[in-house]
Amino acid sequence: MDIPRIFTICESAHRIHNPFTPEKFAILGAALRMEPGMRVLDLGSGSGEMLCTWARDYTITGTGIDMSPLFTQQAKLRADELGVAERIEFIHNDASGYVTEKKCDVAACVGATWIGGGVAGTMELLSKSLKSGGILLIGEPYWRQLPATEEIAIECGATALSDFLTLPELVSSFGTLGYDVVEMVLADQEGWDRYVAAMWLTMRRWLESNPDDDMVEEVRTQLTTAPKRHVAYTREYLGWGVFALMAR
Ligand code: SAH
Repeated sequence: MDIPRIFTICESAHRIHNPFTPEKFAILGAALRMEPGMRVLDLGSGSGEMLCTWARDYTITGTGIDMSPLFTQQAKLRADELGVAERIEFIHNDASGYVTEKKCDVAACVGATWIGGGVAGTMELLSKSLKSGGILLIGEPYWRQLPATEEIAIECGATALSDFLTLPELVSSFGTLGYDVVEMVLADQEGWDRYVAAMWLTMRRWLESNPDDDMVEEVRTQLTTAPKRHVAYTREYLGWGVFALMAR
C-alpha cells in the first residue's frame, strides 16, 4: 500500500508536507495549551513532525497513521531522534475509517482531508475518536484570492475552483457543521515556498541519480514548469491554515 510515487520522489526530503514551517507548528502547539499526557491522533501524519515535536515540547502521547511507507519510516526515525518513540506510535495504513479505541484529546487531519471524503466527512471521522470536549484540527487550503477562471484554479493544483472555499467561507462552514472555531494558525507565502520550492532541489538531485527511471520524463516536466507555476499561481492564489474546532 502506497501513495502515488511522484509524491514520494518530490517530497522525500521534506519533514513537513504542507506550507507550515516548524515555527507555525510550534505556534499551533502553544495555541492549543496542551498538557502532559494528552492524547493526539493524526490521520495522514506524513513524516511525523507535528506529533514528534509536540511530544518533545509538551510530553503528549499520540498515534499517527499514514499510507506512505517511506514517510512512516521517516516519522519513526524522527521519533527516535527526538527521544519520543515511547510516546508516539506511527502506523503504516490507510487512515480512511480509522477510529481509535481510546478516545483522544486532539484529533487531527492536517492537509489530507480526502481521507474522509472532504472536510465535513473528515470531521465526522475524527470526531469518532475524540473525547467529549476535545479539539479537532483540520489543515486545509482556501482561496486567498479567488481565481477569475477555472484554468487558474487548475494551475494552482486544484481540480476545479469548487475544490476550495475562501477563508470567510471556510470559517463559516465549520459553524454550519456545528463547530466553534476556537483557534487558527495560517500559513504564509514563505511557508508555501518552503513546501513547494523545497521539491525542486529534491527533483533535480533525483533526476541526476535516476537517469533511467520510468518517471524521468514526468519529473523533468514538473521541474521545468513548477517554479513559474508556483510564483504565478499557487503562491498568489492559495492560502492554507489549520483550524482548531470544538463541537457546540
Ligand atoms: N500531515 C502531514 C502530511 C500532509 S501530506 C504533514 O503535515 O506533514 C498528506 C499525507 O497524507 C501524506 O503523508 C500521504 O502519504 C498521506 N495519505 C494520503 N492518503 C492517505 C490515506 N488514505 N490514509 C493515510 N494517509 C494518507
